[in-house]
Amino acid sequence: MSRTFVGMPDFPTAAAGATHDPQLRHNLREATHTIRDKRDSAVGELDDWAQLRAAGKAIKDRTLRHLDGYLEQLESAVTAAGGTVHWAADAEEANAIVTRLVRDTGEREVVKVKSMATQEIELNNALDQAGITAYETDLAELIVQLGDDLPSHILVPAIHRNRAEIREIFLRTMADWGVPAPENLSDQPAALAEAARVHLRRRFLDTKVAISGANFAVADTGTLVVLESEGNGRMCLTLPETLISVVGIEKIVPSWSDLEVFLQLLPRSSTGERMNPYTSTWTGPTDGDGPRNFHLVLLDNGRTNALADEVGRQALRCIRCSACLNICPVYERTGGHAYGSVYPGPIGAILNPQLHGTSDPVDASLPYASSLCGACYEVCPVAIDIPEVLVHLRERVVSEPGHAAEKATMGAAGWVLNDGRRLGLAQRAIGAARSMVPRHIPGPPSAWTDTRDLPDIPEKSFRQWWRKREKAQEDETTGARQPREDGAEGRQRSDRRGGERS
Ligand code: SF4
Repeated sequence: MSRTFVGMPDFPTAAAGATHDPQLRHNLREATHTIRDKRDSAVGELDDWAQLRAAGKAIKDRTLRHLDGYLEQLESAVTAAGGTVHWAADAEEANAIVTRLVRDTGEREVVKVKSMATQEIELNNALDQAGITAYETDLAELIVQLGDDLPSHILVPAIHRNRAEIREIFLRTMADWGVPAPENLSDQPAALAEAARVHLRRRFLDTKVAISGANFAVADTGTLVVLESEGNGRMCLTLPETLISVVGIEKIVPSWSDLEVFLQLLPRSSTGERMNPYTSTWTGPTDGDGPRNFHLVLLDNGRTNALADEVGRQALRCIRCSACLNICPVYERTGGHAYGSVYPGPIGAILNPQLHGTSDPVDASLPYASSLCGACYEVCPVAIDIPEVLVHLRERVVSEPGHAAEKATMGAAGWVLNDGRRLGLAQRAIGAARSMVPRHIPGPPSAWTDTRDLPDIPEKSFRQWWRKREKAQEDETTGARQPREDGAEGRQRSDRRGGERS
């Protein structure tokens, strides 16, 4: 059973360990650069990428504005198609619903197709406590589960593992979970994939209950959509007798014509592919084809809180492509575990504090896990302005109890910056004292100067430099005109004298 993120330290503490692990940094750098290069060329092929991106943003914004209506429409359509809809306000309620549904089937094993929502609510642990074993079927999820590890990437949860490490995990633990790995297993990708395929095949054929997530839920037809690359999802969605899908309420799109936009945006942004390898859609159960029972669990778990925040709600547009992770210089050096959640990277830094609030030290630290370089916004296929939300959340964090020193510093800075005269005086004072400013600040601010150079304080402020420059130009103009005029007059006078003389 994979572990949970409960008890993880805050971001700076967790990141400190990761940044000192050269193997981890090497694995992350290799993987993120490969994926982002692929994404760049796939996106570069489309002349209308900017329009597609704007359309994706607009559809999601419109859907979020009328989310209540679309949710009711989805419920009616799923029910009309023969499915059952359940509403879960939080993780506890969702876990209780799924556990009851599995128990009602009389089964004690379930297969899962990668679902971030079930990881978010830690469903595997809840099922385990109820005596039900959940088997992950996505290759990367399988690696995480067999390694008793935690996911560290949205799309490639085992991105922090290299091939040699995966081979070792398969050889050590696969037998405990079913079909063992072959003794002569190599670390070649094809050999590792084949070992996983053989291991999983028995599970797919024997297990009668599947649990999935969904990338999208189409409101007007009640259709659920899963995009994946390995075919494991299709096996989970078609072979078992009962299918339970746990889906965040923000996954709705109003219609199939809206879905069309996202089926172009998502594969190019996530895996750098023009078209997704396996796209499965299902609309309730169908006699003689696929599961006989279908349950949809609609999960809130903090999403309506995010929706209520006018700046922060744009995080709910996320389609989990992971492009922002692959481009982020902070993620590339720390990996996903440091974010203490199933949602790592820039999107995790803005989503987790909104879903959970910022009272926990881990969530309060996440808005600071960024250089605010803006690369995440540039690549986001639905144009989420992540830096804007990060700054907004930082404001929220410092407005809560504590942070006295930060509040006092910002208050003083505001007092100075709001008045030109005060700012000028402060700049002159700092310029005069520049030789006395230490390169390393003692006390709590030393955390800042330990890791970076203090910028040089210029001798003059910009205002002083500008004023001096203006004056010099004025003097030059005035000074140049005088001699010229004098000279001209002189010449004229001399000419006149000369004329008189002649
Ligand atoms: S925030 Fe944007 S770039 Fe990041 S995972 Fe979500 S959709 Fe992709």
